[in-house]
Amino acid sequence: MPSLMIRLYGIVQGVGFRPFVSRTADSLGVLGTVANKGSYVEVFAQAPQQTLERFVNILKTDTPQRAVVISADVRQISDTDFKTFEIIQSEKEAGDIFVSPDIATCDKCAAELFDKNDRRYLHPFINCTQCGPRLTILDAMPYDRERTTMKDFPMCPQCEYEYTHSHTRRYDAQPVCCNDCGPQVYIVGSGIRGSEAITLARKSIMDGKIIAVKGIGGFHLCCDACDQEAVSRLRALKNRPQKPFAVMMKNMQTVRRECNVLDGQQEFLTGYQKPILLLEKRDGRLCASVSPDNPTVGVMLPYAPLQMLLFEYPDGVEMTDCLVMTSGNVSGAPICRSDEDALTEIGSYCDLILSHNRRILIRADDSVMDWFDGKPYMIRRSRGFAPLPVMVSKKADLQSLAIGGELKNTFCIGKNELLYLSSYVGDMADIRTVNALKESVGRMQELLEVQPDICVCDMHPRYNTVTVAEETGLPLVKIQHHYAHILSCMAENDYDDKVIGVSFDGTGYGSDATIWGGEILICDTHGFERAGSIKPFSQVGGDASSKEGWRIAVQLIRDGFGDDAQSVCEQLGLCDEKTFKLQSVMADKRVNTVMSTSAGRLFDAVSAILGVRKKSTFEGESSMCLEFAAERFEKSSEGAQPQFSLEILSENGFETLDTTTLVKQLTQSFLDGVQPDRLAYIFHASLADGIVKCCEKLSKKAGIKKAALSGGVFQNKLLLRLAKGGLEAKGFNVLIHGLVPANDGGIALGQAYYALCNNDKN
Ligand code: ZN
Ligand code: ZN
Ligand code: FE
Repeated sequence: MPSLMIRLYGIVQGVGFRPFVSRTADSLGVLGTVANKGSYVEVFAQAPQQTLERFVNILKTDTPQRAVVISADVRQISDTDFKTFEIIQSEKEAGDIFVSPDIATCDKCAAELFDKNDRRYLHPFINCTQCGPRLTILDAMPYDRERTTMKDFPMCPQCEYEYTHSHTRRYDAQPVCCNDCGPQVYIVGSGIRGSEAITLARKSIMDGKIIAVKGIGGFHLCCDACDQEAVSRLRALKNRPQKPFAVMMKNMQTVRRECNVLDGQQEFLTGYQKPILLLEKRDGRLCASVSPDNPTVGVMLPYAPLQMLLFEYPDGVEMTDCLVMTSGNVSGAPICRSDEDALTEIGSYCDLILSHNRRILIRADDSVMDWFDGKPYMIRRSRGFAPLPVMVSKKADLQSLAIGGELKNTFCIGKNELLYLSSYVGDMADIRTVNALKESVGRMQELLEVQPDICVCDMHPRYNTVTVAEETGLPLVKIQHHYAHILSCMAENDYDDKVIGVSFDGTGYGSDATIWGGEILICDTHGFERAGSIKPFSQVGGDASSKEGWRIAVQLIRDGFGDDAQSVCEQLGLCDEKTFKLQSVMADKRVNTVMSTSAGRLFDAVSAILGVRKKSTFEGESSMCLEFAAERFEKSSEGAQPQFSLEILSENGFETLDTTTLVKQLTQSFLDGVQPDRLAYIFHASLADGIVKCCEKLSKKAGIKKAALSGGVFQNKLLLRLAKGGLEAKGFNVLIHGLVPANDGGIALGQAYYALCNNDKN
C-alpha cells in the first residue's frame, strides 16, 4: 500500500500533537507510527493514496489549538507493512527545537476541577494534553515525562491508562496525574497538607494575612486586593511604597466590574498564555493602594488549578474575587522557586507559605502586557511566551549567545535564523540574579542543544552581564546599548535594511564613553552612525540621579536660566540654597558627574519641575506619572493640542534636540501659573515634534524613509503615538515593538540579531 514519511516542523511538542496525529490516523484508518524527534514530529503513514492526501491535509491545517506547523516535509517511501497506528518513544535528533512555554489550565480541565463526579475533583495539578506546565518542569528535550519533574510521581493505573490510550483527553500528556498519584500541596513548616492546607490559606487571606503561593514558574506573594490594611502591610514589608501590584481576578465578570476592557483584550486575558494585562481602572472594590496614583492596574486570570482553588473551594470560606499576586522575590532578586528560597528570601514578607512538591526547574515570571493601537505591547515577555523563538528571514549557519542588558535582563540564544529570547531573569545588580542568569543560560543551551560560536554583550565596562559574557571564554562582540534596542525592533519586524532608529531610553554606555539615552541613529544590521541626540546635560550624583529627577532638573535649570537658576529652583521647591550650591559645585568640578543625553532622565527632570514627582520610589515612576498627567490633559481638552517648537541645532552633520530651551519654556510657563497637566502634554508633544523634525532632516540627507522606535521611554504610549503619528504624517514607515519589549528586556534579541547578520562564516 502507498506509504508516506511526513516530517512536521514547528511547535509540535507538548501541545497534544502526537495524540492528534494518532486520532486522525484512527479516524481515517491510516496505519503507521508517530514519533517526537526533538525538533520535529515524524509520521509514517500507510493507506490508500486518497486517504493519505486527506491525512496530510488535516495534519497541516487542522492542528491542535496550541500547535503551529511551520513547515511539512512529505515524501513517498517504499511500501510498509504496518498493522496498527502507534505513538513510538522519543528518540533524540538534532535540529531546530521548539520548546513549548507553559500553558494555562484549559476550560475542560477547569470544568473537571469543579465536577464532584470527576476523578480529579479539586485536584490542584489537573492538566491534559492541551494544558499544564511545560518549560518550567523540563529537564531536557524531547519533552517526555521522564525528562520532567513529573518523573517524581509514578502514575497510578488509571492515569497510566489515560496516558496510553488515544481516545482520552490525556493521551500522551506528560504531566498527567490525579488525586491518587500527583503532587501534593502543603503549608511549609507544618504537617498541614492537601485540602486543609488550601482552606487554611484561604482563611488566612480573608483574615487579612499575606501568604506566599507556589505557582507555575515561581512563588507569588498574595493577599486580598480589596483589603486596604493587608495591601498596605505588604507594601511596608516589601519596602515598596508605590510600585503597582498585579491583581489576579476570579473571572471576566470580576475584571469587567473593576476595569474597562477594550476590544481584543478579553482574548488575551482568557487565552492560554494568561499574561498580566494593564487595564484602565473603574470604580470598583479594589483598594487604591494596589496601584496608587495610577489610572491602570495589571490584571490576570488564574492560570493554574491551585490558583482557581484559592478563589473557589467547598469549605464555606467567603472568598474575595481579587487577589494581589506579586512576584515572590526580594526586590531585584530572582523569583523564588523552592521552599528553601521562599523561607530565606520572602519568609519575612508573609504569614504562611502554601507550597507543593512538584519542582520548578526553570523560573518564569508572569508576562506583562500593555496595549497599543488595538494590539498587545509587551512590557515583560516571560511565562507563556518564552522561549518561543523570533524567526527572521536572514539565514546563517551560526549559534550565538546574547547576554542581554543589565536591567530587566533576558538573554537570547541564536540558532541559525531562530532567536530564542529567554524568560525574564531580572536586574543584574543583585548577585543572585547574576547566578540565575548563568544557570538559565546553561540550562537553555542544553535544552536547545546549542554550543555557541560567539557571545554578544553590552559595551559597558562595569556591567555584570559583560563579566558573565567574558567568563564564557567565547569570542566576544560588544554592541552599543541603544543600537541593540533598534536592532531588537528590526529583528521583531524581520527588517534588515537601513533605518533611522530613535532610541529613547534610560541610560546606556555610549561608544564615546559618555552616557547616552536619547539617540537618533542611522543604522542597518552591520553598524550605526550616531546622527543626533538630546542636548547633553550634567547628571550629578551617580546612581541617586537615576531615581531623583530633581537633581537633573537643577542642572537643566542652570543651563537654561544661568544666574537666575538658584531662585528658580527655590521657587519650584526643588532644593534649598545650600543643596543648590553643592549640586552646582559638583557639576562644575565634575565630581560624581557624567554628561548624559538620557531621555528617561529628561522625563524625570520635567516631572520634578512640574511638581508631579520630585523623585521615584521605583524605576520609571516619575516619567510614568508625567505621562498620566499629560493623558489627563489630553482627555479633558478638545480641539487642536498645544505644543512648543523644539529646535534642532545642526553642527557638523550632527543634529541636537534643543531640550534645554524646551525645559526653560516649560519652567517659565509653570511659574506663570499654567497647569502642570497641560505642560506635561506640551512636553510630550514638543519632544515628539523634535523627533519628527530630526528624522526628516536625516531622511533628506540619507534617503531613508523607514524609522524604528525603541528603548524604555517608548513604553510611554503617548510619546509613542505622537512620534509614530507625526512620522507617518511625513511619509515615514515606522517600525515599533509588539511582543518584544521596547525596554531592556528586548536588548538580547537585538544582540543576537547582530551576530546572525554579521556572521563571518557566510
Ligand atoms: Zn486541560
Ligand atoms: Zn493518577
Ligand atoms: Fe535600554
